[in-house]
Amino acid sequence: MLTQPNLGAFVTNPGVMYREGVAQGLLRYMKCRDCESAQTLARYACGRCGSTQLDWLDSDSTGTVYAVTTVTRAPSDEFRALVPYTLVLVDLREGSRVMGHGEPGLMIGDAVIASFAELKSKGLVLFCRTSERRGETGDTLGDACQSGVP
Ligand SMILES: [Zn+2]
Repeated sequence: MLTQPNLGAFVTNPGVMYREGVAQGLLRYMKCRDCESAQTLARYACGRCGSTQLDWLDSDSTGTVYAVTTVTRAPSDEFRALVPYTLVLVDLREGSRVMGHGEPGLMIGDAVIASFAELKSKGLVLFCRTSERRGETGDTLGDACQSGVP
């Protein structure tokens, strides 16, 4: 018979805290109280030491692009209007790695800051360059970075 692991204080999916933050315009990450390791993804236990003493903190939403890809085939109808769009993995300044949309033309190593958009009433993280290198793209998400109001 399968038994449920002891999840301590977690009574819900830990990802809920992340999604609620995005809905409020905050980029949240988890940090271990025991070893101070920032966590990538919402977790029930620390990926480094296994502790379940994890706290949610608010990131300052800045980081560096770790990886970039362009999506040319939407996974669902709601994303079809955005194709082609850019997805990025970003190493936040605090040490957590997150995925989000990115303005077109982002490159590995670019300094970025998160802004927040809404698509079909779901929160969406959009990373924009923090430097002067912003281009005029004529693209919906790129324009959102330009205006600062996605
Ligand atoms: Zn730890």
